[in-house]
Amino acid sequence: KPQNKKLGVALVGLGSYSTYQLAPSLQDTEHCYLAGIVTGTKEKEKTWQEKYGIPVENTYNYENFDSIANNEAIDIVYVVLPNSMHADFSIRAAKAGKHVICEKPMAISVAECDAIIGACNKAGVKLSVGYRMQSDPYTKEVKKYVAEKTFGDVHFVSSDAGYISRGNPDQWRLNKKLSGGGALMNMGVYSIQTSIYGCGANPSSVSAQEFSTRPDYFKDTDETITAQFEFPNDAVAHMMTSHNANGNRLKSHCSNGWFELDPAHSYGPISGRTSNGNVISFPHQRQQALQMDDFAKHILMGTPNVAPGEMGKRDMIIVEAIYRFIAEGGKKQM
Ligand code: NDP
Repeated sequence: KPQNKKLGVALVGLGSYSTYQLAPSLQDTEHCYLAGIVTGTKEKEKTWQEKYGIPVENTYNYENFDSIANNEAIDIVYVVLPNSMHADFSIRAAKAGKHVICEKPMAISVAECDAIIGACNKAGVKLSVGYRMQSDPYTKEVKKYVAEKTFGDVHFVSSDAGYISRGNPDQWRLNKKLSGGGALMNMGVYSIQTSIYGCGANPSSVSAQEFSTRPDYFKDTDETITAQFEFPNDAVAHMMTSHNANGNRLKSHCSNGWFELDPAHSYGPISGRTSNGNVISFPHQRQQALQMDDFAKHILMGTPNVAPGEMGKRDMIIVEAIYRFIAEGGKKQM
């Protein structure tokens, strides 16, 4: 493709994230645009076609999706479905010869992540995970503090990611078959990500605890999980993720000070401060637009993939280790 061409993106699954974040953000991108839709809800087809000028021939459902292979207007398929459907549609998209971006969590097991990575490699297409924070300037700034040791060595990171779920108890996020797990799958990947970039290394070991205070509501999935990481650079971290407690924070305690983001991973504006009294501040931009341009530039110009499939898989290895620790670990009753 010539470098001046905008890549066509097809959104798969027109739920709330596609409707309120991704589609509007794709109006703000330089290197890609919303070209197609894939939906299982017939009524959404016409609304989206009219709102975004999407031609009928770029409109698919889950049954005829594979014929997207014949549609040259679609370069990138963006999978925005419930978690347990990510692997199937990402693999089908790769087989159709399309570049793939898949929402977080990348899938619901390490084996599924491997299958997606394998399918994309085999098809020779690019793969990214919808980790919008990897394109966010605040995240880049704290990564710089870590790399340049602005506040010295990081010794301890604390990170929280959660919200209080009060909605319909039958929603897919609370249904393990569709979600693969509860708070840890949904929000836990943010605390795993912030622990890692707040410290600058991948963890070498983990321990974890699960808490359940509303078992009548969270019948099928984890409510609150805390976990502790050791890192090869001698740092340690503590994370909390929950569907029953609000948390949106990263704090890194270093040998000569500290830095903090709070909020750390919402849609923005993100807010941050440091031990020397500075406020971390950048003009607000839609993270989803930055993310999509980063992926399009990776495809068109070979710039780095800021959220590759291997990163999604790394986080799923940690998720599985946390669940395994909880399943095997004994709680001491008092
Ligand atoms: P929603 O429930 O709002 O939408 C999911 C959509 O998937 C539905 O509207 C439907 O679209 C389609 N779908 C197909 N089969 C099913 C099914 N069995 N049950 C429910 N929906 C189905 O979810 P979200 O948009 O909030 O989340 C989608 C994905 O995006 C998740 O993986 C989530 O983790 C991720 N996400 C990421 C965020 C981020 O900041 N990176 C933020 C929010 C979500 P249709 O009617 O078109 O078929």
